Amino acid sequence: MSDVKPLGFDTQQIHAGAHPDPATGARQTPIYQTTAYVFRDADHAAALFNLQEVGYIYSRLTNPTVAVLQERIATLEGGIGGVCCSSGHAAQIMALFPLMQPGLNVVVSTRLYGGTITQFSHTIKRFGWSATFVDFDDEAAVAAAIDENTRAIFCESIANPGGYITDIPAIAKIADAAGIPLIVDNTSATPYLCNPIALGATLVVHSTTKYLTGNGTVTGGCVVDSGNFDWGANDKFPSLSQPEPAYHGLVFKDTFGPMAYTFHGIAIGLRDLGMTMNPQAAHYTLMGTETLSLRMQRHVENALELATWLEKDPRVDYVTYAGLPSSPYYGRIETVCPKGAGGLFTIALKGGYDACLKFVDSLEIFSHVANLGDTRSLVIHSASTTHRQLSLEQQEAAGAAPNVVRLSIGIEDVADLKVDLDQALTKATA
Ligand SMILES: *Cc1c(COP(=O)(O)O)cnc(C)c1O
Repeated sequence: MSDVKPLGFDTQQIHAGAHPDPATGARQTPIYQTTAYVFRDADHAAALFNLQEVGYIYSRLTNPTVAVLQERIATLEGGIGGVCCSSGHAAQIMALFPLMQPGLNVVVSTRLYGGTITQFSHTIKRFGWSATFVDFDDEAAVAAAIDENTRAIFCESIANPGGYITDIPAIAKIADAAGIPLIVDNTSATPYLCNPIALGATLVVHSTTKYLTGNGTVTGGCVVDSGNFDWGANDKFPSLSQPEPAYHGLVFKDTFGPMAYTFHGIAIGLRDLGMTMNPQAAHYTLMGTETLSLRMQRHVENALELATWLEKDPRVDYVTYAGLPSSPYYGRIETVCPKGAGGLFTIALKGGYDACLKFVDSLEIFSHVANLGDTRSLVIHSASTTHRQLSLEQQEAAGAAPNVVRLSIGIEDVADLKVDLDQALTKATA
């Protein structure tokens, strides 16, 4: 099939990375529930450990079920390699790890998932790394925040929970000019709605916990490399471009070419940090990816209908969803996520903080949970939960002010969701 046109997204989401099992012919990817793999002989073992031959050694590093998922997500993102991890937060640390050293920093958007703001504000400081938070609508400020110690720019494509869309091509240009990679968290958009690599990003990270799995069963993450960045173009990335003492002096860039970053993630990142995805989790996420496009179409359709309806409701102060023409980010959809602005939005209630709590407690079909991207509709009051550890200023910048509730719209019958929202709004504003 090599001279026909590339396979479409709906075909790739089912087939990429997968082959009938060579031992049994099993059509569905087996769950390789094993820790270790028998070496053919002593020479084979030595070649594997020297990275002269690619194969399976130990499941902290690689596992055949996880490998299928890695190839599938990398293919859907238009990248050349992927490394799966135990969670989205693990993927963020894994993405930065090959690039960073104590004393170095990353320039990040103020509009990020609440847990990411906490991870970047506090926890990464224990490694001697730091993050400089900037409003990514102010391109001059992003450029100005980059100094000689900056090793990456980090943002989300569609930012959760504020209905924000990042101008990825503009930010990618700034990263290129500085000779550093742009990392995009594409969790809320998924590769069906947004392709950060096609828009100029070097690396993509995912919490596969959300839409890629799609039904709230397992946590997971993935780092995808575009293969487009020249790690040796400057002296900023010695772990990739110079002899790496953690792998007996191997030069990843010379040995693996465009796959240098991916091999570094496995051979050093997973080997030493151990934030590995297990094969059961990979199986659930593989099942999810098979229907990704169908689910995302319905998530977007339901979200747009409900956001349009809620915006006109007198009990609602405002709705932030980039799919609405009233959104300041509506104009970015065509470039960044042409198939829709995702399934998440926030609504501000006229009754403020107390009305939000009453609203959340009154919903019946919507579940009150700290998750998103499930087939079922979910709700959370971010200011009292996921964004609780943040200052009021950080909450507002992240689109999680005290009067705001976040909805993750599922794929149920939209008429039923409307009835549920209506009765909860009535109770909340009584
Ligand atoms: C959930 C989420 C994360 C963190 O992922 P986990 O799998 O919960 O660790 C990171 N970024 C975004 C946008 C998320 O929604």
